[in-house]
Amino acid sequence: MPTSNRFYRRPPHLQARQQWMVAAGMASLVCMALVALQLLPANGWMLVSTLLGLGFSIAGFAWSTYSGRHPGIQNDGVWFSSLSSRGWLAWLVAAFLTFFYCVLYWKGEWLGLRADGNVGLVGLFDPLSYGLKGQPASQWFVYGVLYTLAITAFGFKFILKYRHNRYQVLRTLSTVFFQLAFAFLLPEFFMRMNLPYNDLKNMWPLNYSFFDAWNLDALQAAGWAGKFFLIFGLLMIFAISPTLCFFFGKRWYCSWVCGCGGLAETAGDPFRQLSSKSTRAWQIEQWLIYPIFLFAVAMTLGVLYSYFTGQAHLMGISTAALRAWYGFAIGAAFSGVIGVGFYPLLGSRVWCRFGCPMAALLGIQQKFFSRFRITTNGGQCISCGNCSSYCEMGIDVRAYAQRGQPIVRASCVGCGICAAVCPRGVLRLENGPHPNRESSSPLASSFLNAPFESPKDA
Ligand code: SF4
Ligand code: SF4
Repeated sequence: MPTSNRFYRRPPHLQARQQWMVAAGMASLVCMALVALQLLPANGWMLVSTLLGLGFSIAGFAWSTYSGRHPGIQNDGVWFSSLSSRGWLAWLVAAFLTFFYCVLYWKGEWLGLRADGNVGLVGLFDPLSYGLKGQPASQWFVYGVLYTLAITAFGFKFILKYRHNRYQVLRTLSTVFFQLAFAFLLPEFFMRMNLPYNDLKNMWPLNYSFFDAWNLDALQAAGWAGKFFLIFGLLMIFAISPTLCFFFGKRWYCSWVCGCGGLAETAGDPFRQLSSKSTRAWQIEQWLIYPIFLFAVAMTLGVLYSYFTGQAHLMGISTAALRAWYGFAIGAAFSGVIGVGFYPLLGSRVWCRFGCPMAALLGIQQKFFSRFRITTNGGQCISCGNCSSYCEMGIDVRAYAQRGQPIVRASCVGCGICAAVCPRGVLRLENGPHPNRESSSPLASSFLNAPFESPKDA
């Protein structure tokens, strides 16, 4: 809760232009809801107007909020806003997102998915789907369009807000590019070419379907392109990703490439301060993320065992049932429903912090085999706590800064926000030599260990 009016000012009331933007965004959402209920027609004009309405209202709101301000971080009023401090608006948004994800995963027909011709919301996206891949839309196509729109529009807002910081601008452009090109357009193009759907950047264990029998068969049946997808996927897991992680830490993926991270960083930005920094939360993190990674490994080994031997059971356990449980509990319920639905309640990286097996694997590599660290100049720290407040992974950055100790943590996604919000320039993201990267910086050590001299004695 706020302790000082200097740092926690109430947000100003919305200006007239911002109110218009909110009204335009809400009108677009209401139109989509009415189309979903089949009370408005689902056609190309409606699709274009609702998508443009959503995109421009987010971008326009961001422009009217940040364009007139001086560059620099101003998180005024986050603890007074109902949306960003777990107020009634946050609960409302969380309930809506959770409901939407439940319908998306388990009730596609409620969105209008039909074998004999889509209607409702899915039908609304048919014209775009036919234009891109020559096939009708599915609920996952609808989701992909809205997801890409969210990352792009909120990415614009993020860039405006952090425009003084080159690292933030570049990595946001990177996540928008990878979402738009690799996660959305390229897979649709592959399908138009009668090739298997493939998001080249989505690798195992995040892509837990990679070793499924249907996927392995489809890739092998797709000629040279399928074999390229297969070999590239294996290279990503065993060569490309570990190498990039060695040089740059897990940030190369979690903060520059990954779609889950991209949404968390852009649309989830207003909620990053909600991640708990308590020891209890850290213990829960340890007890969840590594067992989930082991679950992913065991499930994958079972699936591969069945694929190569034709046996349905491994040590008495049905490998298909194991795969189904993983898909339901981790792939759908945790990553989607909780992972995004709970943004306004638990912070924007709930999935990355507590559930993502990819984050666990990259975290182990980062902790023990990487050159990445955040160095701290403890002598400059004024203990304001901005860094800890805005660390989305719940790391108590200030505790390290006060000791002048480099931060080498498996969970750090290298977003760089701690450094961006530090008013004293204490923190620096570096890729230094691997040995001794956990020792204190010489400058901080000499400062902290120096005998105290009063200005009069000096
Ligand atoms: S420690 Fe800094 S760079 Fe790492 S996750 Fe937290 S805010 Fe991001
Ligand atoms: S490192 Fe910077 S942001 Fe963090 S407590 Fe110290 S002065 Fe504040």
